[in-house]
Amino acid sequence: MFHVPGADDVLRGTLLHMSDSKALAHWLTHNPAGRHLAARFVAGEDLDAAIAAVRTLNDGGLMATLDHLGERVTRAEEATAAAAEYVTILDRLHDTGVDSNVSLKLTQMGLDISRQLCLENLLRVLKQAQAIGQFVRLDMESSRHTQDILDVFAEVWAHGYRNCGIVLQAYLHRTERDVEWAIELGCRVRLCKGAYAEPPSVAFAEKHDTDANFVKLARKLLEGQLYPGLATHDPHIISEVKSWNFATSAFEFQMLYGVRPELQRQLAGEGYRVRAYVPFGSDWYAYFMRRLAERPANLIFFLTQLKDALPSHHSS
Ligand SMILES: Cc1cc2nc3c(=O)[nH]c(=O)nc-3n(C[C@H](O)[C@H](O)[C@H](O)COP(=O)(O)OP(=O)(O)OC[C@H]3O[C@@H](n4cnc5c(N)ncnc54)[C@H](O)[C@@H]3O)c2cc1C
Repeated sequence: MFHVPGADDVLRGTLLHMSDSKALAHWLTHNPAGRHLAARFVAGEDLDAAIAAVRTLNDGGLMATLDHLGERVTRAEEATAAAAEYVTILDRLHDTGVDSNVSLKLTQMGLDISRQLCLENLLRVLKQAQAIGQFVRLDMESSRHTQDILDVFAEVWAHGYRNCGIVLQAYLHRTERDVEWAIELGCRVRLCKGAYAEPPSVAFAEKHDTDANFVKLARKLLEGQLYPGLATHDPHIISEVKSWNFATSAFEFQMLYGVRPELQRQLAGEGYRVRAYVPFGSDWYAYFMRRLAERPANLIFFLTQLKDALPSHHSS
């Protein structure tokens, strides 16, 4: 069957392609109005702001995972600095005692430069995390990187690191097999729908197929007893998962900072474990564009705010 793209699909695709633009990234991240708008999804530009956001979430009964924004790094020094920054973050989490682990992207650790460099950087972070009893989640990126990310993960697993987990995306055709692989290995999985522009050869074109696959794979992960992180804001999926009556200690719901915060608090109030994904840093452009693409209404809101925030030009 052919998938006929609607206006939302076109907008989503355009925004996701724009998320690669270095020129737009430079313009928006250096624009005070842009920074103001990103604050809806980004906890701040430095670690102090991020820790303060985590404290507020903890006070509301939520756990957190900190993401120091950055991806697709092209210089080795940048990747090494990103790993060092994660070591600093882990130390701060330990010193402050806030309830948060960390999430990172392997392309930020140098995956596009050299697999060996990426592995060394990741091992540095994992070693520090292990020393302080912390957990590190490897975010999943575009399908171009899926196998490499899983391979690097398998390598650190073979090194004996068990304080590390992966993310699998329900929109990919391959993911059911990856879920089975993860269950066999016994590693922790965050399941999400998937946030990148992917062709129909690798991913479901219809949203309802992705949603159905999410439900199916969530059930498999719960039955596999992997303490999965079910990362979605989708009210239908959340009610379905609740109706299965697994112990609330058997999994956690995960949601993004700034997205449906009232639902996050409500679920925590009902006794579910809820973790908020808290990104921070100045490299927020690609992350921000993916959030706009997920919900076209965000774009209307964003453009209205941008218009109000930019200096007006009067023509005579
Ligand atoms: C904790 C967490 C970690 C993630 N990690 C990854 C990852 O490693 N790799 C990856 O590819 N993707 C990741 N994602 C993103 C994910 O793949 C989806 O793109 C995103 O969560 C939107 O899908 P949804 O399940 O919320 O459902 P949707 O069906 O897209 O949305 C359901 C409802 O949620 C609300 N909503 C969803 N997104 C937004 C938004 N941006 N702004 C406002 N409201 C919104 C709306 O009310 C919408 O109707 C992560 C998501 C979460 C929550």
